[in-house]
Amino acid sequence: MQEERLQKIISQAGIASRRAAEKMILEGRVRVDGQVVRELGTKVDPAAHTILVDGKKIAGEEQHVYLLLNKPKGYLSTAKDDRGRRTVLDLLPEVRERVYPVGRLDNNTEGLLLITNDGALMNGLLHPRFEVEKTYHAGVTGKLTEEKLQMLRDGLLLEDGMTAPAKVSLLPEREPGERVRGLTRAAITIHEGRNRQVRRMFAAVGCDVKSLKRVRFAGLTLKGVARGQHRALTEEEVSSLY
Ligand code: URA
Repeated sequence: MQEERLQKIISQAGIASRRAAEKMILEGRVRVDGQVVRELGTKVDPAAHTILVDGKKIAGEEQHVYLLLNKPKGYLSTAKDDRGRRTVLDLLPEVRERVYPVGRLDNNTEGLLLITNDGALMNGLLHPRFEVEKTYHAGVTGKLTEEKLQMLRDGLLLEDGMTAPAKVSLLPEREPGERVRGLTRAAITIHEGRNRQVRRMFAAVGCDVKSLKRVRFAGLTLKGVARGQHRALTEEEVSSLY
């Protein structure tokens, strides 16, 4: 490892943007080897020094943690909520490291969410260039005609631009345990990660999404992980993400 500017190390750990990291430093929330550092230009080798932000270690001897969570509805995909609402970290009470979700699922979306403190991996998985595939199962109102399916597959215009082509197929009518009856069910695979993208894509073809579950992310699935539960990734799985 080489010396890096402190704000860069903090932002690469996935904790905050570069600008927010600068603010944290100025506010005296960052310690290097026990000493508060308020100088923005400070360079540190993160492999050789212990860096704490708000008392939590972000660099030093810390091990990386990689978890696969089956997020239930009603949990925010953030590390902390100003309004005290439940976050996915509430589902991981034993995890002591400062971990973050890789991307977001809406509060009322369930399914596969990776949680890690490996900022480099997180940035890679979220970067549009790598086109990481995500598959969702959606229960929607109305019929999904061949024409609508084709529109979703071709890509359609949302207020933030055209979507890339998606893989879409119909699923059997009801999933075990699904509460809402009479929905049309579809699997959709996208590689973009725009805000509420799947809901907006279905809305663009006149279908309201009533249930949404991410079942696959970067080749990983929910197999063996019940709703609300999590497991650590294996070493092979972690390597497959790099
Ligand atoms: N698309 C959505 O609309 N919501 C999610 O939570 C994820 C993808």
